[in-house]
Amino acid sequence: MKTAFITGITGQDGAYLAKYLLEKGYKVYGGFRRTSTPNFWRLEELNALHDVELIELDILDTGNMVRAFSKYLPDEVYNLAAQSFVAVSFEKPVLTGDITAIGVTKVLEAIRICNPKIKFYQASSSEMFGKVMETPQKETTPFYPKSPYAVAKLYGHWLTIVYRESFDIYGCSGILFNHESPLRGIEFVTRKVSDAVARIKKGKQKFFDIGNIDAKRDWGFAEEYVRGMWLMMQQDTADDYILATNETHTVREFIEHAFRYVDMDIAWIGHGINETAIDKKTGKTVVKINPKFFRPGEVDLLLGDYSKAKEKLGWEPMVRFNKLVEMMVEADLKRIK
Ligand code: NAP
Ligand code: GDP
Repeated sequence: MKTAFITGITGQDGAYLAKYLLEKGYKVYGGFRRTSTPNFWRLEELNALHDVELIELDILDTGNMVRAFSKYLPDEVYNLAAQSFVAVSFEKPVLTGDITAIGVTKVLEAIRICNPKIKFYQASSSEMFGKVMETPQKETTPFYPKSPYAVAKLYGHWLTIVYRESFDIYGCSGILFNHESPLRGIEFVTRKVSDAVARIKKGKQKFFDIGNIDAKRDWGFAEEYVRGMWLMMQQDTADDYILATNETHTVREFIEHAFRYVDMDIAWIGHGINETAIDKKTGKTVVKINPKFFRPGEVDLLLGDYSKAKEKLGWEPMVRFNKLVEMMVEADLKRIK
């Protein structure tokens, strides 16, 4: 039986990866940081809570990780822990750097000290492409980060390569494009929209505020992406791979399709910060632009080329944009009593 240790077990990907590895017969340890009210709702929703062994672990604390890896002897460590929200990284750049960048050094140091044979997965991000230097983005596309989050991820990405080349550690990075699910954090745009549209449909809310609706993202389904993480860890040599859908859509399209799914046809009126969306049937406003959600630096377009993952790992996404939107709205409709 193989043993895996997942940092960031309480997050979206942590829950899906735990479930996936349990189904593969792994012994799964899940690291969670101490809070006054621990939050395991994602593992609960996937029925994985009781099969994972939960371990208090903070990636800011090297000693904590050295003790955990020495005691639980993982074969594979998946480093999913991060301050992962781009917007917050502009307000908390130091904290974001401490967790999302330096935290990676601490995990890698713990591996180097305990057992350099432990395989390591780093959760890199398409945000590292930022102001994109070519489209679609490939593993060879130069990076141009546009936020403190993206800079922190770039640090973790390169550090993984440095530990691979300097210390012969099996360190691989998945450069994952945005991936969503009904378990996505509510502050991310997709889940914010699916939740609000479900509430509007059920008469619990009248409208919602939104930021830049012309930003384009390559959105995939998180459950499929964790399989890609595992595949990266099963190769003869460690490498870096993009996981994406090779499709890009605007936030505006996401909103339109979410409303369409609940049989509401919307029309956009006005321009710039005065643009709103109305329900065509009632004439009522259902979406308003709020500059509060604009970012100091924006990533306008992401579109990933996953051909290396397809060729070398046999990985390919099946869930496409419309289905993803529908799955998320459907789950939020069910959550509303
Ligand atoms: P998420 O839902 O925000 O989960 C982040 C996890 O990190 C949570 O479990 C969080 O714990 C934990 N964490 C934060 N600070 C920590 C610390 N100091 N010590 C230990 N744990 C800590 O993110 P996700 O969507 O699952 O993404 C997983 C990883 O992939 C992240 O590194 C993210 O940056 C990266 N990524 C995500 C995407 C995407 O589209 N989802 C794309 C590319 C890369 P709490 O519950 O206590 O906050
Ligand atoms: P990101 O790609 O990791 O930053 O994922 P997000 O879901 O946070 O944001 C995706 C895109 O949606 C970005 O270009 C945001 O500027 C845009 N966006 C527009 N309105 C909102 C909003 O209200 N919340 C969030 N989170 N993003 C928004």
